[in-house]
Order: sequence, then C-alpha cells, then structure tokens
Amino acid sequence: MEKENKLQLEIVTPYGLILSEDVDEVTCTGSEGDFGVLPGHVPFFTTLKIGMLAYKKGNTTKYVFVNWGYAEVGPDKVMVLADSAEKSEDIDVERAKAAMKRADERLKKAEEFDFARSSSSLERAVARVQIGEKFR
Ligand code: ATP
Repeated sequence: MEKENKLQLEIVTPYGLILSEDVDEVTCTGSEGDFGVLPGHVPFFTTLKIGMLAYKKGNTTKYVFVNWGYAEVGPDKVMVLADSAEKSEDIDVERAKAAMKRADERLKKAEEFDFARSSSSLERAVARVQIGEKFR
C-alpha cells in the first residue's frame, strides 16, 4: 500500500549502481530544462546535462551530482543512466577543486587542448564543488 505512492529511483553508471531507493519526488537537470517527477507521472525519456539531481524522502531532500546521461520516467520509477554520478556526501571536494584548476589551466592554453573536453571537465568540477560543499 505504502509503496504505491513511491517512485523507485535508480542511478546507474559504468562504475556501478550509485543509488536505488524508494522516494517521494525527484528533480533532474534535463537537457531541455529542469523537471520534477511525482508518482503517477506520464512516461517519458530525456537526456540529462551535467548537474544536480535532488530527491525527497519524507521531509529530507538529498542531492546527487550527475554527469550527462538519460532518464527514463514511468509512473512508479525514475531510472537514470549516467556517465558518472556521486551522492553529495561521496563527493571529494578537494579532488574536484584540483580538477577545476587543471581544466582552467587547459582552457587558458586553448591551442594545445581540446576546448570541448576541457570545458566539460570544468563544468563537472564546478558542479561537484557546488553540490559537495553545499549539500553535504
Ligand atoms: P577527475 O579529473 O578528478 O578524474 P573526472 O570528471 O574526469 O574527474 P569522471 O570521469 O566523471 O571524473 O569520473 C571517474 C570516476 O571518478 C567516477 O567513478 C566518478 O564518480 C569518480 N569521481 C570523479 N570525481 C570525483 C570527485 N570529486 N569525488 C568523488 N568521486 C569522483
């Protein structure tokens, strides 16, 4: 009975299963903008940008960094397949800061490094620092 009003949230990456929980609400950074999902949502499929996924369980909200991917939404589930993802408490902020510095230096030497690659690294690192520092 209780489970009927829940969403099963799963986040899977090539590095493994990051999260599998029954939750009340999910918010994602979709490529076409942020979207929220409550139980009973119409099914849809979308791509995700580098950014934050938030989910609510009772009065608690938790945050996850998501590095690109896809979200498949159904009335009772949200399945996320991402290139990488970490729960806010698992983010190594110092590592992300070092990655930010590296990417920043590469962007300054644009002629030597692939611009798109360096800017995605920077985007990932900035998002990790924000999520890791703010929502621990
Ligand atoms: P880095 O340059 O620090 O390796 P990256 O953006 O290249 O970062 P990814 O390719 O996104 O790293 O991820 C590789 C693996 O390392 C994944 O398992 C990811 O969850 C993990 N990871 C990357 N950065 C962090 C971090 N700051 N804290 C915790 N885990 C991380």
